[in-house]
Amino acid sequence: MADMVVVRKEGLYCVPGDFYIDPWRPVERAVITHAHGDHARWGHRHYLASRASVNILKSRLGADINIEGLEYGERIVRNGVTISLHPAGHVLGSAQIRMEHQGEIWVASGDYKVGPDSTCAPFEPVRCHTFITESTFGLPIYRWDPQQEVFDDINAWWRANAEQGRASILYGYSFGKAQRLLSGLDPSIGPIVCHGAVEPLNRVYREGGVALPPTQLVSETDKADFKHAIVLAPPSASGSTWTRRFGDYSDAFASGWMLLRGARRRRGVDRGFVLSDHADWPGLLEAIHATEAQQVIVTHGSIPVLVRWLCQIGLDAKGFDTEYGEEDDEAADAAPAPATATTAATTAAASDEEEDEDRRGEPKPAGQAEQAIEGEETKDA
Ligand SMILES: [Zn+2]
Ligand SMILES: [Zn+2]
Repeated sequence: MADMVVVRKEGLYCVPGDFYIDPWRPVERAVITHAHGDHARWGHRHYLASRASVNILKSRLGADINIEGLEYGERIVRNGVTISLHPAGHVLGSAQIRMEHQGEIWVASGDYKVGPDSTCAPFEPVRCHTFITESTFGLPIYRWDPQQEVFDDINAWWRANAEQGRASILYGYSFGKAQRLLSGLDPSIGPIVCHGAVEPLNRVYREGGVALPPTQLVSETDKADFKHAIVLAPPSASGSTWTRRFGDYSDAFASGWMLLRGARRRRGVDRGFVLSDHADWPGLLEAIHATEAQQVIVTHGSIPVLVRWLCQIGLDAKGFDTEYGEEDDEAADAAPAPATATTAATTAAASDEEEDEDRRGEPKPAGQAEQAIEGEETKDA
């Protein structure tokens, strides 16, 4: 049987349904998995997304976009293809796209994680014949510690700083990561202060029924209070003049890439907390297994490694070249801190933080050399 979904220059294309999934060029009909910048782009004639994504997409792409929202599990038919959306556990509103045509079922995962996250609906395994999976952290070295341990470490770091009268600045992507971090903070330690790029998304989350601790803007905070506050900011604010207002501070970055010492060094922060909204290696394998798919198509991330692994365990696997999580990675890797610092300094508190974890501004392992330096475990890759 011919592939139901193929790669075209505009993006992943559902042939019988005549629509695109997270297309990177403007198209007539786009089905969007989630509102991160590398998946949800501007300029499509018609958008279809989860109900929980609609307001986020409008706030990022413009209130006038032509968008239709679907509840998770609700079905609609396009050209004989039954479409439904299922939670991906990645960020608020993130969805896997299930497509059924003449008894054949394909699921496109978008970005996903299988670990706990109180700020979005948990990943739902969907049985299918073909599963299109992401592989951002598709190497055996990537294994996440339990979320609660990471939250405990962050709170301990914050408490220690507060006891010494020093602000704590924690960098994480403004959509998704920042709210997940918020959900794990202990507000008894001190005030939780948010950058202007983060606070509007907190509002969308709260409106969506997600419980978050109280937050305040930098401008609403007395200078004396910064001494025991934690400040949540997008990575682009790191190293910028924006941080001067906090006086003495310690800073940290929360990302899956923080597992790599090189990535921490390039970020130039005091601490790295390993927390990702993508599945780690065991999570990817668990999710793929749960779909019972016999054919697996691997997209952005470590395509060759995961494809080889899946073939070895008897699945029919191949890769799709996509433009998710890829653009500007080289640039980000070559010139990380200075470039972002300049941008942040000139645009001040501008909300330029559109990226997903796997995009610009995020260091990536720079191939074999980095892998070799970073860990002995690479040998089982
Ligand atoms: Zn992505
Ligand atoms: Zn994403």
